[in-house]
Amino acid sequence: MGLCKCPKKKVTNQFCFEHRVNVCEHCLVSNHPRCIVKSYLHWLQDSDYNPVCTLCNGSLAEGDVIRLVCYDVFHLACIDKFSQSLPPNTAPAGYTCPNCKNTIFPPEKMVSPVVDQLRHKLSSLQWARAGLGLPVVSCTVSRKTLDKRQDNLQQPQQDHDENKYQRRGAIDWFTRWFRTRVNKPKGQLIDDPNASLKRTMMVFFLVILAFVTIVVIFTRVGRSTANRDPLLDPMSNPNIKVQGDH
Ligand SMILES: [Zn+2]
Ligand SMILES: [Zn+2]
Ligand SMILES: [Zn+2]
Ligand SMILES: [Zn+2]
Repeated sequence: MGLCKCPKKKVTNQFCFEHRVNVCEHCLVSNHPRCIVKSYLHWLQDSDYNPVCTLCNGSLAEGDVIRLVCYDVFHLACIDKFSQSLPPNTAPAGYTCPNCKNTIFPPEKMVSPVVDQLRHKLSSLQWARAGLGLPVVSCTVSRKTLDKRQDNLQQPQQDHDENKYQRRGAIDWFTRWFRTRVNKPKGQLIDDPNASLKRTMMVFFLVILAFVTIVVIFTRVGRSTANRDPLLDPMSNPNIKVQGDH
């Protein structure tokens, strides 16, 4: 235990092995970003240290570095490579420090200078966004890719519905299909930016369909009444003579 020499005079048990001083978290972030920092007790037991990234054995003096909640430091690129080598279905708790197996993702309610900086650095890495509770898809992904992904998501469910309601009428199936389009399936992370457009197009299509149906019905009704009207029947018109009558 000791006092940090900075103006904050914070009580700390962390010790910088390189500069041999007590460090509070504020100083750790601002003045010792690349230093090996462990507890003062650790220093008393073993003052040997090797200022290298244990993932690549390269010097921590070079390249962008990241300090985890456990205070272990690595190259940002090395942690990125290490985590991407894990299976894609790894749970957030499965991402752990290669040195001490402490979790890489800070607990949700934990706030400290080190944790704030860690969150900031992790947020730039695609695999880390889900573990931080951030949206997985960045805004730079094109809408076409989004649509394609959503189609892939909806395809199996649609087929399933089709089989399940095969015996029901076409209209029943159609309303069900339309409803699945309108109500997004639960657990779907991606928002479809074209959803309202698709809905509008669908309504527009239905209106046209209804209009065409009405026109067809009226035409048929009109034709059948016209056939029955004696004034329009040439055979009952006395002014028209048909040759076959003689
Ligand atoms: Zn300090
Ligand atoms: Zn230091
Ligand atoms: Zn490294
Ligand atoms: Zn660690």
